[in-house]
Amino acid sequence: MNTNLKKDAANLATILKKVSEQGAEYLDGIAERPTSTTATIQKEHTLSEQGIGTLATLENFNERFEPLMVASSGPKYWGFVTGGSTPAAIAGDWLTTIYDQNTQAEKGSGDNSAQIELETIQLLLDLFDLPKDYLGGFVTGATLSNFTSLAVARQWLGKQKGYDIAKEGSIAGLKFLTATPHSSALKSMAMLGVGSNNFTKIRVLEGNREAMDTKDLEQKIIALNGEPFVLISSGGTVNTVDFDDFQAISELKKQYSFWWHIDAAFGGFAACSPIYRHLVKGWENADSITIDCHKWLNVPYESAVYFIKDQHRNLQVETFQNSNAPYLGDPLENFTYLNFLPENSRRLKALPAWFSLKAYGKKGYRDIVENNIENAKQFGDYIDKDSAFELLAQVRLNTVCFTLEGAENQEKVILFLKSLNDTGKVFMTPTVYNGKKAIRAAFVNWRTNSTDINDVTQLMKGLADKL
Ligand SMILES: *Cc1c(COP(=O)(O)O)cnc(C)c1O
Repeated sequence: MNTNLKKDAANLATILKKVSEQGAEYLDGIAERPTSTTATIQKEHTLSEQGIGTLATLENFNERFEPLMVASSGPKYWGFVTGGSTPAAIAGDWLTTIYDQNTQAEKGSGDNSAQIELETIQLLLDLFDLPKDYLGGFVTGATLSNFTSLAVARQWLGKQKGYDIAKEGSIAGLKFLTATPHSSALKSMAMLGVGSNNFTKIRVLEGNREAMDTKDLEQKIIALNGEPFVLISSGGTVNTVDFDDFQAISELKKQYSFWWHIDAAFGGFAACSPIYRHLVKGWENADSITIDCHKWLNVPYESAVYFIKDQHRNLQVETFQNSNAPYLGDPLENFTYLNFLPENSRRLKALPAWFSLKAYGKKGYRDIVENNIENAKQFGDYIDKDSAFELLAQVRLNTVCFTLEGAENQEKVILFLKSLNDTGKVFMTPTVYNGKKAIRAAFVNWRTNSTDINDVTQLMKGLADKL
């Protein structure tokens, strides 16, 4: 055996202990850790012949890379929609690496860890109060969840027109309808050969809304004259967390033939609270649903799920069957994930989610969700009251979309955001809303509390005075 490997194998307990101590120290201090950095690294692009062993490599990491680490899983990282990691999720994530299963099959292939993933999917359906007639799976993020769902939708659409797209290739004239899609849904359409421009835009409701006008949707359906289509709807738009009317869409689905996909990457967590659950009422009729786990479930990257109605199981297998590998057996008999989603070999992605769901239960997630919505309301109230800022939309759930007050200040928005982010005490991201340059703050971290909001509003007051 190679000497470095031999030494490391003998030293494994020490190595893991060191990493664990460093991890605990980092996480204990994460509230104080800067949310941005200007650190860069000196490039080292040649590989040594012998290697230096793990403990020396850890030192090298600590010198060179550790300064690049920002507190993106801390309480004041409000950029994008960035979650954190619960303690239980971290434990599950570490064990995922340690056990290093290749989660493929429910039984009969040596590694039967798919049972754990299937159980976790059931717990998630329970968390979201969704019916159990969905088949789900873990993928790396909501982008891949949208991709997986829309790939099966495309197969359905082809079948309606007499084509097996999975076998014969994509065809022209596939109809997609949507109002305010997330960029990743359009990216998925690009990857699927549908084309990211190839959709009919449904009007949004009047009155500063991003949700679709379902009357306009029905008009556009009627204009299709019975042609099947895919509807991509939003369970929480990114800028203002607006929800399409899932009850109205459910009614339309009774009358017309279409595949209904909901991108509920983070908005779906409204279902965890009885106060906000009404926002997703009717979503149980969707053919497919996207949920991100590395956002509001607060598990580490990379984790998301898709839910696809069990009745579409055959379409799923048609789309993703790894068909030239007879040694893998019948996909429907021994449940094999690689025939149900894009990836073949995959880690036991479900374990961090399983740990966190078991550790905190429904109440735990209700508390996280309601707390973050309170954070957003507190921050939104401040923005609304401070004359330096303009709130661009009511705070509907957990994000705040705002800009600087006064048209003459539009050019300063990005500069203001940069000066705020450069403090390292908070991080937010830019957007454009209704033609205005704007800033978004998203609250999706279990650690964030009202003191964090106060600290940031104090900081913003100081910076706004200097404008
Ligand atoms: C974040 C997000 C996505 C993309 O998710 P990734 O995890 O970055 O792949 C898709 N849809 C919505 C609504 C999102 O918020």
